[in-house]
Amino acid sequence: MKRKVSLFTQIFIAFILAIILGIVFGSDIKVLQPLGDLFLRLIKFIIAPLIFASLVVGVASTGDPKRLGRIGMKTIVYYLVTTAIAIIIGIGFAYLISPGNGIDIAIPKTPVQINETEGIIATLLQIVPDNPFAALANGNILQIIFFALFIGLAITFSGKKAELIYPFFEGFAEVMYKITGIIMRFAPLGVLGLVAPIVGNYGVSVLMPLIKVIIAVGIACAAHSLFVYSIAVKSFGKMSPFFFFKGIAPAALVAFSTASSAGTLPITIKNTQENLGVSKRISSFVLPLGATINMDGTAIYQGVAVIFIAQFFNLELTFMQLVTVVLTTILASIGTAGVPGAGMIMLAMVLSSVQMPLEGIALIAGIDRILDMFRTTVNIVGDASAAVVVAATENELTLKK
Ligand code: ASP
Repeated sequence: MKRKVSLFTQIFIAFILAIILGIVFGSDIKVLQPLGDLFLRLIKFIIAPLIFASLVVGVASTGDPKRLGRIGMKTIVYYLVTTAIAIIIGIGFAYLISPGNGIDIAIPKTPVQINETEGIIATLLQIVPDNPFAALANGNILQIIFFALFIGLAITFSGKKAELIYPFFEGFAEVMYKITGIIMRFAPLGVLGLVAPIVGNYGVSVLMPLIKVIIAVGIACAAHSLFVYSIAVKSFGKMSPFFFFKGIAPAALVAFSTASSAGTLPITIKNTQENLGVSKRISSFVLPLGATINMDGTAIYQGVAVIFIAQFFNLELTFMQLVTVVLTTILASIGTAGVPGAGMIMLAMVLSSVQMPLEGIALIAGIDRILDMFRTTVNIVGDASAAVVVAATENELTLKK
């Protein structure tokens, strides 16, 4: 009987193998580099269409404008605010723990272009593309996002007249996810081709900081859940945080073990209705939307990862670049599908928005599954907290303990 080894196991094995090959063959192992370069090219090639399609669908999936009304507004504001807090907490803990500092290597890096002199207004103005197709062709991430958000919103407001175009984008997004899936199948070889030459050149100590990355993501996730969600359910829902966490615990465990918020959704809905007393009407709107667009844990992970990669490659991020990171991370987490590993692909978008080397992704790919378990748990607990808060403000919360 053939047993299927999961992709994550394969990536992990590739990662360990890369370390062994790097130690054994030293710098000679650079013959594997083309595999790594191929993987990076594949990721780069999918970024623009993937973000474009998934964001259009993410925004347009909120349904007709009536549903987008009051409840929709509350939900979206809650999602955006908590996601922004999540990134800031992630970046904060990353700076505190400094997982990528103290590595004295000079890996050839893409120079970071700093446009500090342009100022905030000019930078913000540039988000609006003067030619959306040029934005797509040049891979200008912020402009692509702008274009996608606009199309998504316009589809929502066009109603019947645009009813043919939504399924088109949905299908298009599906195809992009498929391609991403195929590229991910190649990830083990890509990781081998990227990590082995690094270890071969700089020794295994170069990977020690990864433990610190896990610690930083873990602590930031715990802090975000304990503070932000406790305060939210307590102040809006008059619900004891203990009652909240206990009620959502079964779904949290499923999220932790499956690393998929979409896969956990049925259990999130069940727990939120039965254990937390959120009405059907609210939970059936807030939770599926949350499983698609609200990813606080993913935002935390991306915040930590960007700082780690910057420190690893000795890049100093300017304030404007940090602002760009926060903005793109909010959008990247919206565009992340609720399936295992999706957050890592979207990390490419955050990195390219500030011209950081995509090689960084390969470094943390080996431990992605562990990080994914933490972030997915936070993702679904965040959705449930939104359901409690929105239900409370709509007087549709029946159990309050
Ligand atoms: N696995 C996450 C989720 O399903 C998404 C991610 O990779 O960040 O929520």
